[in-house]
Amino acid sequence: MYTVAVISGDGIGPEITDAALTVLRATGVELDFVFADAGAAAVDRWDEPVPDQTLEILREADAILKAPLLAPKGTGRITKQRHGRDVVYPSVNNALRRELELFVNVRPVRAYPGVPARAPQIDVVIMREVTEGLYSGIEHTIGDSAAVAVKVVTAGACERLARYAFAWARSKSRRRVTLGHKANVLNLSDGLMLSTTAAVAQANPDIEFGDMMVDAVGLCLAKSPELLDVIILDNQYGDILSDVCGGLAGGIGLAPGANIGERHAMFEAAHGAAPDIAGTGTANPVALILSAGMLLDHLGETAAAKAVEQAVGDVLAVEDTRTPDLGGSADTATVGKAVAARVAELMGRG
Ligand code: ATP
Repeated sequence: MYTVAVISGDGIGPEITDAALTVLRATGVELDFVFADAGAAAVDRWDEPVPDQTLEILREADAILKAPLLAPKGTGRITKQRHGRDVVYPSVNNALRRELELFVNVRPVRAYPGVPARAPQIDVVIMREVTEGLYSGIEHTIGDSAAVAVKVVTAGACERLARYAFAWARSKSRRRVTLGHKANVLNLSDGLMLSTTAAVAQANPDIEFGDMMVDAVGLCLAKSPELLDVIILDNQYGDILSDVCGGLAGGIGLAPGANIGERHAMFEAAHGAAPDIAGTGTANPVALILSAGMLLDHLGETAAAKAVEQAVGDVLAVEDTRTPDLGGSADTATVGKAVAARVAELMGRG
C-alpha cells in the first residue's frame, strides 16, 4: 500500500483530478489517497496558500499528485518563516517545489497517432531546473521606474540536474541530451551552466551530448523536433519551451510532468489551472492522467505505468473520446472513464 498525497488544485484542477484518480484506481495498485489543501483552498481553510499542515502531509506521502494551482500575476509571492527569517517564493507552485527540495521538473512531450499535431514527429523530454535561475524570487524595485530580477546559477544545481538527466536518459534508452542556454549573452551565469553540464557529459560518453542557444532550440523544435531528444533547460527557458512543445504535440493538455527531489516526488500537468474553462466539463484530463502514470513508474509499478500510457494512446486515437481542445466533443469525465476502462483491460481486470 502506497500513500499518495493529492492536491485537487484550482480552476479545472478538481475535474481533472477526479479523472486521474479514476484511472489510478483502475490499475488495481493499492493506493491510499490523502487530500491536502494548497492555493485558494488552503487560504480559505488555513489563511495561507502553502500551510505547514499541507507540507507535512506531502512530506509523509510516498508520492504526490498535484493538480494546477492559480498563479496570480504580480501578486503571487509567498513568504514562509524558515530558521527565523523570511524566505520569499515567487509563486505557490515554486514554493511547493522548493519547500520539498524538488530540483528537476521532467516533462515528456510527444504527439499521439490520430491526434492533430503541428509536429507529429515530436518526442522530447524537457529537464527543467526548478530551484534557481530567474525564478529564484530575488526581485526588487529601484525607485518608481525600475525593477531588477536576479538570475541565480550555481554549479551544484547544474551538476545535480545534468547527472539526473544523463541517468534518466540511460534508464529510458534515450540517445541524446542537449543543453539549451544563452551563454553568448549571459557569459557568467549560463556560461557556468554550460561548463558544468559539459563536464558531466564527459563522464557519460555513452549518451550523445550537444549544446545549443536556447533560441536555436526554439527554432529546431518548430522545424525539426526529431533532432531533439532530452533537453536540459534552466527554470525560465524550461517553463516557456514546455508550453511550446505541448502546443506542437497537439495541445498543452497532453503534457505531463514530474518534479523530483532526493526525498520527495510530485507529479503534475505542465498546464495551468485554466480558469477560463473551469466548470464547463471540457478540460482535457490527459496531462494529469499521464502524470499519474509517471507517479506509478516512480513507485516501481512499471506494468501499471505502461498500461496508463498505452491506454491514453488508445483512447486518444478515437475522436469520440477526445476533449474539444483536441478536436473531439467528449467531456473530462468521459475521457477519464474511457482511459480507466482500457487500463483495467490491459491489467487483466476488465
Ligand atoms: P500557468 O501560468 O499557471 O501555467 P497559464 O496562464 O499559462 O497558467 P493555462 O491555465 O495553462 O495558462 O491556460 C492556457 C490556455 O490553455 C487557456 O486557454 C486554457 O483554457 C487552455 N488549457 C490549459 N489546460 C487545459 C486543459 N487541460 N484542457 C483544455 N484546455 C486547457
